[in-house]
Amino acid sequence: MRGSVVGDGMAMGEAVTGKGRELMSHIAEIIAVGTELLLGNIANTNAQELSQTLSALGINVYWHTVVGDNAGRLREAVERARRRADILITTGGLGPTYDDLTKQTVCRAFGRELVLRPAIAEQIRARYERNLRAPMPENNLRQAEFPADCIVFDNPVGTAPGCAFEEQGVHVLMLPGPPFEMRAMLEGGAVPYLRRLSGDVIVSRDIMTFGMGESRVEELLRDKMERMTNPTLATYAKPSEVRLRATAKAGSVEAAEAMLDPVVSDVRAALGDIVYGVDVKGLEYACVSALRGRGLTLATAESCTGGQIAARLTAIPGVSAAYRGGVVSYWTEMKAAVLGVPSEILDAHGAVSEPTARAMARGVCELTGAPVGVSVTGVAGPDRDERGVAVGTVYVGLATPEGTFCRALDLGQRRRDILQNLAGNHAFDLLRRWLSGLPLSL
Ligand code: ATP
Repeated sequence: MRGSVVGDGMAMGEAVTGKGRELMSHIAEIIAVGTELLLGNIANTNAQELSQTLSALGINVYWHTVVGDNAGRLREAVERARRRADILITTGGLGPTYDDLTKQTVCRAFGRELVLRPAIAEQIRARYERNLRAPMPENNLRQAEFPADCIVFDNPVGTAPGCAFEEQGVHVLMLPGPPFEMRAMLEGGAVPYLRRLSGDVIVSRDIMTFGMGESRVEELLRDKMERMTNPTLATYAKPSEVRLRATAKAGSVEAAEAMLDPVVSDVRAALGDIVYGVDVKGLEYACVSALRGRGLTLATAESCTGGQIAARLTAIPGVSAAYRGGVVSYWTEMKAAVLGVPSEILDAHGAVSEPTARAMARGVCELTGAPVGVSVTGVAGPDRDERGVAVGTVYVGLATPEGTFCRALDLGQRRRDILQNLAGNHAFDLLRRWLSGLPLSL
């Protein structure tokens, strides 16, 4: 499947309200409840996940609110949210303890009674006593109290169920705080509920690039991006790559995909061979599929990246068809002893040099029998190496049946982990360019 798709492609659905067909677009607010969030003890990952899901469903998220376990402030947040959004989603505060007050507070705000559901109480009791082999404390029964006339979302991985109701055109969904419980309930209960409110599907394509900074990419595409409303095109920069996400909203997956095809073509035309794939997870994935396509195997020789290139490769399922293995040769002596880098090269040019990078790549091919080898040697910092080579100096070597190549880089003074990641990306980029018959230099 190309791109990511959420939604079932159905036509504008009958709204859950029963009021008839809702053609307006929805506005959602996420209210995360928990003092731990305000104290900075935990990050609000529930809001992030909910936002991603809602946007994929075609629901606009306009606000994220975080509020502590305080009834007054939660009430205030709910009152404000209901005036400006028609979908309110809370996470947290559904548990059995005194500070879990989401349901009570939401019910007060919407003038709903909180009613015990005996059947659910028995389910919670049975699950509790089965898992913990002890009688359930009575305060746990609070988890079986729900707003009158609501839909209850089962909690397959915890005890506190969630719920949803609609009041005067506002949909309120209450989900638990623990992320894995929230996620399970989102998939099992909340998404089907929300999908009935939003008839459109959203399809995205991730256009992956390496070798150009975000501001330059934006400059090349700015006119286009500013004019686009549906599909939209946005850039997301990681420390060393830029991802462009094209997103279309339409009545069916096919219609959305047809809208995206020309956007992808236009971006490719504008950016050229820095685009290394569409909906590819990373440069290493592009390399592995190209290696497999050409029936070639690879070996790696790493110094300053310390095995990160090997780790990225071996994280890919099925990579054994394309990857033989690698060496982390951190000490200069190891480059000579294991990879056979000639001591004349090391003495004359040093461990961080173009001849060493080429010899490391050749050496690992000889050691493993792989036809293609990549190597990285450089100074990741924070200090210069013993020969005074500056931080950010990196040489990426490539050995192939056609000969050896090298990319010499001055990556500047950056954080060590960022330099290592960037050096790894250059190694993968050099490799994928050779595998695709593209010019090797950026
Ligand atoms: P429980 O039944 O476990 O009490 P709950 O719905 O009452 O569930 P909380 O007590 O509010 O949830 O939170 C439980 C835990 O879930 C928190 O300690 C925290 O680790 C995690 N959590 C809560 N809210 C969030 C959030 N917005 N993002 C990420 N993690 C969260």
